[in-house]
Amino acid sequence: MTTTDTLADRSALVTGSTSGIGLGIAKALAAAGANVALNGFGDVDAAVAEVSAVARGGRVVYVGADLRRAGEIETMMSEAREQIGEIDVLVNNAGIQHVAPLDEFPVDKWDDVMAINLTSAFHTTRLALPGMRAKNWGRIVNVASVHGLVASANKSAYVAAKHGLVGLTKVTALETAKSRVTCNAICPGWVLTPLVEAQVEARAQHEGTDRESAKESLVTEKQPSGEFVTPDQLARLVLFLCSDAGDQVRGVAWNLDGGWLAQ
Ligand code: NAD
Repeated sequence: MTTTDTLADRSALVTGSTSGIGLGIAKALAAAGANVALNGFGDVDAAVAEVSAVARGGRVVYVGADLRRAGEIETMMSEAREQIGEIDVLVNNAGIQHVAPLDEFPVDKWDDVMAINLTSAFHTTRLALPGMRAKNWGRIVNVASVHGLVASANKSAYVAAKHGLVGLTKVTALETAKSRVTCNAICPGWVLTPLVEAQVEARAQHEGTDRESAKESLVTEKQPSGEFVTPDQLARLVLFLCSDAGDQVRGVAWNLDGGWLAQ
């Protein structure tokens, strides 16, 4: 065991951290001592307050950007750097879902899913890498999905974007392999966040059942454990990847999915 696994003096940016998985990851990083920059839409003040409440000495700031726009991402990265210094830990987490058959898939939704779930990670990574290389330390964690490794019907844009994100992860890992910068993807199964609540609602309507039954049928259909993964479990995996023990974990797509991919 080393004693260097604290994230005090490290600075982290978590995209899409006003809600769900990103918020859980931001809290864990702050609780480990890091300065944390939050990003995302919705109730920003509540997210900043929730992360600040568990922070251990680091600063908690908010850097807004619509991640569909490269210019806004560039501004976000500069603002984060100004407020908390060079980004040591970059968590590309923001994502949206849209469910529709391929031949009915709205073109604007395809573009949004690609921009937020995939292209934004290219921009944040290209902008964070020079600082990480200069310090010879960095951690890039891309929140992909089991849908980065397998498909489900009616999720063409999401599955394509997440497979792309796993590919981007591998290339980034190879290009940083000779340094202490690592890049990995984590691939959650079902996590009960607002992104999935919308799918539970749609299923309840489609099956003519109540929300609880729809939740149960959604999770058991794919996940042998019959239980949702939690943001806290995913956050602990991120902390492991940020630790010294994670130094040689490179280019991995690590599923945490209640057995979904074991089938
Ligand atoms: P969520 O809806 O709770 O959070 C999404 C976050 O992204 C929010 O903070 C939202 O404001 C932000 N966001 C959305 N569009 C944005 C934009 N244009 N610019 C900036 N921020 C934007 O969803 P979640 O379930 O916590 O999802 C987080 C990540 O985890 C996503 O990449 C998602 O694909 C992935 N994931 C989720 C699940 C699941 O079951 N919930 C499973 C696998 C992977």
